[in-house]
Amino acid sequence: QQEKVRCAGCGVNLQTKDSGKPGFVPAAALEKEIIICQRCFRIKNYNEAASVAIDQDDFLRLLGGIAATDSLVVHIVDLFDFEGSIIPGLQRFVGNNPVLLVVNKIDLLPKGVSTNRLRNWVQKQAKAQGIRLMDVILCSAKRGTGFEHVIEALAQHRGDRDVYVVGATNVGKSTLINRLIRDYSDLERELTTSRYPGTTLDAVHIPLDDGHDIIDTPGIVYSHRMTEIVPRDVLGAILPEKEIKPIVYQLNADQSIFVGALARFDFVEGERQSFTFYVSNGLKLHRTKLERADELYAEHKGVMLAPPSAEQLADMPAWTRHRLNVKRGQEMDVFISGLGWIHVNSTVGALIDIHAPKGIRVMLRDALI
Ligand code: GDP
Repeated sequence: QQEKVRCAGCGVNLQTKDSGKPGFVPAAALEKEIIICQRCFRIKNYNEAASVAIDQDDFLRLLGGIAATDSLVVHIVDLFDFEGSIIPGLQRFVGNNPVLLVVNKIDLLPKGVSTNRLRNWVQKQAKAQGIRLMDVILCSAKRGTGFEHVIEALAQHRGDRDVYVVGATNVGKSTLINRLIRDYSDLERELTTSRYPGTTLDAVHIPLDDGHDIIDTPGIVYSHRMTEIVPRDVLGAILPEKEIKPIVYQLNADQSIFVGALARFDFVEGERQSFTFYVSNGLKLHRTKLERADELYAEHKGVMLAPPSAEQLADMPAWTRHRLNVKRGQEMDVFISGLGWIHVNSTVGALIDIHAPKGIRVMLRDALI
């Protein structure tokens, strides 16, 4: 009876409640002799990986399981939400296994940004997180840009090992894996037989042409990312689909910019200067005087200042204020996890307040571009 409740493909405990979580099967499928979860079913029948998400604790357990294997770990991060999507302490959990960092969504940056500069920036930030990187690959899983480098790096670094693909939600992990399945998989072979009986990794094995497996893991949910706390239809508005057209504002101190009703940027102190907003062009920005900003928000949130709508805002955390000080001569980004960033190249210094839903990570970082 024990086997009845586990997926015959990946070994995950089956459940019928939440299709976005590992182990989901429609209730009717439980009648079958051999039951596989929906994720395994889709790969097997449609050659298509789908995103599923788990929380921190389950994810850490899964990562710990990787430490006991001999594998290459591919960590996918989203260049648009780099600090929000990187997995803190990854190295500790995957043990001695080498980590390849795949930085996805480079298509969102303006053309002409030097890849060398990007690579150096990524390397520096990853090092600060304590991740020992075997290599950094820049790509766009959606457009296929740089995908040949992903393939090359996999061939070069994995040796005789399987490949675990790990990442936060919405970084493009499924998009990347689907590309791998399309170009390199060998689904004639038996799909998803767990190598480590008894240890449920909630991980789907996808056989590749060369006899090795790509192992897809669930995406980890981080509540410090704007993408995790907004409703689904707002997610579409904040995830940029194509190259971001930056928006430049010349501001005097005491001016504010609303990003929909998702966040507010206040230029509190400093000489007149420019601020460049890198957020999805699907979002509406609204400029006002700082002294008017609270009132404007109270009157217009959810309507002129949107998304989210008024009803949706009622279900989201209230804003808190983050005070950030860009010193004279610094070139920094004001980073708002999942929403984007504001580039500040301050020859004169700037004191800035960011209002954002409580829990969302807001910070200063070295300028990306
Ligand atoms: P997962 O949750 O990590 O499996 O992410 P998905 O593959 O489902 O992708 C999440 C979102 O990011 C979707 O809206 C994708 O269209 C988008 N996406 C994935 N890869 C890219 C990329 O290379 N560039 C851009 N601009 N968007 C991407």
